[in-house]
Amino acid sequence: MERNVLVLADIRNDKLRNVTFESLTAARKLADGGTVYGALLGKNVSGMADALAHYGADQVFVVENDVLANYVPDAFAIALETVIRESGAEVVLMAHSAIGRDLAPKLAARFEAGQVSDIVDVQMEGDKIVFTRPIYAGKAFTKNVITDDMVFATVRPNNLPAAEPDTSCSANVTTVSVDLPADSLRTFIKEVVKKSAGGADLSEAKIIVSGGRGVKSADGFKPLQELADALGAAVGASRGACDAGYCDYALQIGQTGKVVTPDLYIACGISGAIQHLAGMSNSKVIVAINKDPEAPIFKVADYGIVGDLFEVVPLLTEELKKL
Ligand code: FAD
Repeated sequence: MERNVLVLADIRNDKLRNVTFESLTAARKLADGGTVYGALLGKNVSGMADALAHYGADQVFVVENDVLANYVPDAFAIALETVIRESGAEVVLMAHSAIGRDLAPKLAARFEAGQVSDIVDVQMEGDKIVFTRPIYAGKAFTKNVITDDMVFATVRPNNLPAAEPDTSCSANVTTVSVDLPADSLRTFIKEVVKKSAGGADLSEAKIIVSGGRGVKSADGFKPLQELADALGAAVGASRGACDAGYCDYALQIGQTGKVVTPDLYIACGISGAIQHLAGMSNSKVIVAINKDPEAPIFKVADYGIVGDLFEVVPLLTEELKKL
């Protein structure tokens, strides 16, 4: 059954995140011969339209406005609502990011439509869309069969495959202007203060070296950073390490932190509490380094090293540097 599917581009630091391309690939499948739309909301974003076309967007709606330079909930909701009404989209996909988590339910309520969060798989069963999403901190999965005429879904990064881009396509762009008067916005951004830890995009990293309370201090993260550098990895942390002040909360992985699905997750000095597992247990390969052989992290680990991280991690780095 043909459907019109719209993908909201996920932009960070003036770049499209991969989850946009993963969502467009899923959108092609869901459209089943219908139209795939891309939506670019922001300031100076029109230059990204071709990239959306390369991954399957038949038409790209561009809303440029100074107010959209940062995420302002009311402004983004108005802009996206306008694009959805213009496109007639029946399925709307966006990243399961802080923005998507805020925007999807807001828009679903406005359209009185259904919403599924944090999808990791998309299938068609006959005419019906089936979204798979993890529950119970990743211990089980539910399949959600969509019966509503319209649905919003947020897509967990790094789970759906992205198609090979067709760089011969160029975008069919529709520019949409929206009126965003200041008195219609209940919040606005006065200043953006970037955290120093914000360099690596943990949600999209292919390899993560993560530290827990076992690193014992901020300095204890140094060997982990060296291992990460040798692997081209990002550094993450447990809440235990963040609460202890060893690192910034921007690094926190887990139920109340970031959800990650890298190809390789190396947990160093992390016990493996259920709230931490909620953020990383779907990683493709998990390596745990812990001096306690009974630590619960070993139950989810593919490879375990029982030992002192301050001995094991530098040895790993040394060996990797020889390669
Ligand atoms: P610990 O549990 O103290 O474990 C430290 C580990 O390091 C131990 O296993 C120890 O054997 C090992 N170790 C010590 N020294 C060494 C060494 N030299 N070499 C090797 N191993 C060593 N936690 C999260 O991580 N993310 C979340 O999002 C999150 N959300 C939460 C939400 C709620 C509502 C609640 C109640 C809790 C949440 N937590 C979260 C906290 C969680 O329950 C745990 O307290 C936390 O994950 C523990 O962090 P940790 O594993 O670093 O510390």
